[in-house]
Amino acid sequence: MINELTKVKGIGVKTQEKLNTLDIHNVKDLLLYYPRQYLDRTKVINISQIEENSYVSLKGVISNISSKYMPYGRRLHITNAIFKDETGEINLTWFNQSYLSKVLRNGSFIYLFGKAEKKGFFYSLTNPEFSFKKEDFIRIEPVYPKNTHIAQYEIRKSIKSALDYTGHLIKETLPEDVRKKYNLMDKELAIKNIHYPSSPKAFYDARRRLVFEELFLMQLALFTIKENNKVSRKGNVYTNSNVANTYIKNLPFTLTNGQVQAIKDIDMDLKSGKLMSRLLQGDVGSGKTLVSFYAVLKVFEKGDQSALMVPTEILAKQHFENAQKDLSPLGVRCLLLVGSLSKKEKEEAYSKIENGQVDLVIGTHALIQKDVKFKNLTLCITDEQHRFGVSQRTEFSQKGRQPHLLVMSATPIPRTLALVIYGDLDISTIKEMPKERKKVLTYAVDESYRQRIIAFIEKIVNQGQQVFIVCPSIYENPDIDISDVTTKFEFYSKNLPKLKVDVLHGQMKNKEKSEIINDFLDKKSQVLVTTTIIEVGIDIANAGLIVIEDAQQFGLSQLHQLRGRVGRSNIQAYCILFNQSESENAKKRMDAMVSSNDGFYLAEEDLALRGPGDFFGVKQHGLPEFKIANLYEDMDILKLTQKALVDEIKRSECYKNLLEEELLYIGYGNLWG
Ligand code: ADP
Ligand code: MG
Repeated sequence: MINELTKVKGIGVKTQEKLNTLDIHNVKDLLLYYPRQYLDRTKVINISQIEENSYVSLKGVISNISSKYMPYGRRLHITNAIFKDETGEINLTWFNQSYLSKVLRNGSFIYLFGKAEKKGFFYSLTNPEFSFKKEDFIRIEPVYPKNTHIAQYEIRKSIKSALDYTGHLIKETLPEDVRKKYNLMDKELAIKNIHYPSSPKAFYDARRRLVFEELFLMQLALFTIKENNKVSRKGNVYTNSNVANTYIKNLPFTLTNGQVQAIKDIDMDLKSGKLMSRLLQGDVGSGKTLVSFYAVLKVFEKGDQSALMVPTEILAKQHFENAQKDLSPLGVRCLLLVGSLSKKEKEEAYSKIENGQVDLVIGTHALIQKDVKFKNLTLCITDEQHRFGVSQRTEFSQKGRQPHLLVMSATPIPRTLALVIYGDLDISTIKEMPKERKKVLTYAVDESYRQRIIAFIEKIVNQGQQVFIVCPSIYENPDIDISDVTTKFEFYSKNLPKLKVDVLHGQMKNKEKSEIINDFLDKKSQVLVTTTIIEVGIDIANAGLIVIEDAQQFGLSQLHQLRGRVGRSNIQAYCILFNQSESENAKKRMDAMVSSNDGFYLAEEDLALRGPGDFFGVKQHGLPEFKIANLYEDMDILKLTQKALVDEIKRSECYKNLLEEELLYIGYGNLWG
């Protein structure tokens, strides 16, 4: 197939360079550059039906056409005209298109498309597109994502031309029987219709086909990785371990069923001789840490190294302290490796890691820097995996020679999604919380409760506990009415004069951040006004209340995560949700929060309630952005692909070439090499 961009008629070197800025480097990239939205010109309306600020298609007659040149200031050529149909008239204005007065004449009958704005009594269109022929014009027009280097019409023109000249060369990717069975449009037609839908139905079918393919291949690729790992990747063998068993036996509590099962799963993996690739998922506070420590101890007893990577320094320090408390007495030499260490400290750390003088390294991204070399790293653990991309996970693994992998996540996700996001991993789930843990009592309120909440905060603090206040943004934004940390910090400081209120957000310096957190840990401050920065794993057992301002701004999963910051000990904890929205959806989310503490249930609800473009995006899971699929809108297709997967896995060989591309795309290296 022709693949050089300049081979396509109408694409010269200049356009090629511009397309390159969109990461389009060949014809295939170009054809797979899908529209972000469409302008529907198929419905021609009357002038009397125009609504302000809407895009409209009209048909009618031109009159009073005039052109003038404005010599002053910005050199401007203006063409004006009046456009009429049976129901009224509007004004038209074009800037710097002097050829128009030659093309358009008084009395010309045209089709017109543009955005209707009201100027005085009349509607007016500025720089409308027009055509004399209906066929050329009355269609659905693609709108592509663009940057400042290239104009929309240039992208359109390039893609149109590529479709016209090379469209027939597009190869089918899915076997015919699969297409038949799942009623999928053929690929050529799908690509053509995704750019220029011949009808709404054709668009729907085209999109369905392409979404199916994308989700299907992604899952098949992940599954293949998992299978390949099982077949070909040997892992170090760790059998019974006295140290690990003793650790578990001496814990001051009994394990939950989920913890017991997770430990069994890990035992099985580690003695199998194969590589472990396991996701350990469980709600915040479900006790994942001790399960990971169990694995660390097994590896430690054989004299091998483990590493635990987390997304923030705060979390790294907390894990480090826990490890020192739990593991150091058993002889495990722990080391903290974070970006804020001095150069000298880092170099010392590097040499200890390389010489095998430490058994467990806990750190942030600092762990995957190139100077970090392990002596014999055989267990890689990540916490809050959804913050890391797949490629970071891979980089981490490359620090060892085929290390076992344990991925921990406190973001419960529905099973359907788990197959897309963690399809390459086996999954252990801790469903229940430690028994003595009390449910966080949750209330959704509006502004009329403000004074009562202030009083409640005082009461909580008087009981010796601490309070989080979470706001959706850091600074005030005059355009939107959303609570910000800066303003709320002032508000609470003023309204809680007897308490020490502090403020914490991501744009502060690291040093400042740790001081504030330490003050809070040391109970020097009682109220902390902050952003979602506290979402990830911070363990402050003494926090008894979290107040979430403008809670409607957050998705359910995120609200649940935030709520998990409190109630981590045996005191009764509370969560107050300030909801400023009247929307049904926001109310449903608040109701779900009030009625349930079950992360897996809430994740399912989240999926059901979430609309497109919601706050808590797919990106947070470390997924690549899909080319076309939207996991939330395309749930039905996702389920269909999962059905197909069951059959197609048997003959995954025939998808081999496709999968390789897919894997490169999602950040894995070459699977078969
Ligand atoms: P997470 O899953 O969020 O990482 P942690 O591992 O930090 O949770 O555990 C939260 C707290 O619960 C810790 O203080 C831990 O010691 C305690 N914990 C863990 N398992 C149990 C259990 N089975 N019973 C009682 N407390 C437990
Ligand atoms: Mg944790």
